[in-house]
Amino acid sequence: MNCKGVIREISNYIDGDLDPVVKQELERHLEHCEDCTMIVDQTRKSIKVLCDSRPVSLSAEVRARLHAALRRKIDHNAS
Ligand SMILES: [Zn+2]
Repeated sequence: MNCKGVIREISNYIDGDLDPVVKQELERHLEHCEDCTMIVDQTRKSIKVLCDSRPVSLSAEVRARLHAALRRKIDHNAS
């Protein structure tokens, strides 16, 4: 799995809704990708704060922000 895959699955991952095989791949990616680890951490924290620890799906706004962060990272790596 790559960073894009993590972003695509992040809400399912945090909700605990992920297929076990996909979850394993995602966690393997997190082991060597600090950026995604940070994104998962921060997303989880902000959901906890906002929703009193009840897991919810990511809002469109949060998702858009994650995508923007990812795109910046990819652009940076490419240049
Ligand atoms: Zn990553």
